[in-house]
Formats: sequence, C-alpha cells, structure tokens
Amino acid sequence: MKQCRVCQCDFEPSHNGNFLCSNTCAVRLFTARQKVRLSIKAALKALKTPEDVNNFNLSLTTIIEKVAQ
Ligand SMILES: [Zn+2]
Repeated sequence: MKQCRVCQCDFEPSHNGNFLCSNTCAVRLFTARQKVRLSIKAALKALKTPEDVNNFNLSLTTIIEKVAQ
C-alpha cells in the first residue's frame, strides 16, 4: 500500500513509480502546479522598472536576513 500525495488516501499502486491514487488526483496536482507557476509569473510581471527589481531584491535580502538571524 502507498499513500496518495494529493488526497493522502491509501491505495494499491499499479506500478512502482506511482504516487497518485487516481486520475482525479493527477489533474488536481497538475492544476496546483499551474497555479504556482502563474502566481510566480504574475509576481515577475509586476517588476517593470530596474527600480522595481532592486526593491524586489532588497525585500528578498531582508527576508533572508530575518530568517538567518
Ligand atoms: Zn488521491
């Protein structure tokens, strides 16, 4: 028995590389990945000027510094 990565249910894998219980869960995983990709794309699109990119880099640095402390 294996646990589905999407719905966490137990299922019998049809082959060893299988980690999803059904086609429904495969579609759900695909949709979730698309959403993440789109939100990253949208965030990058918002950076229009070199100044925006600089501010973005600064905020990243701040976050990294906070985590490192
Ligand atoms: Zn599932």
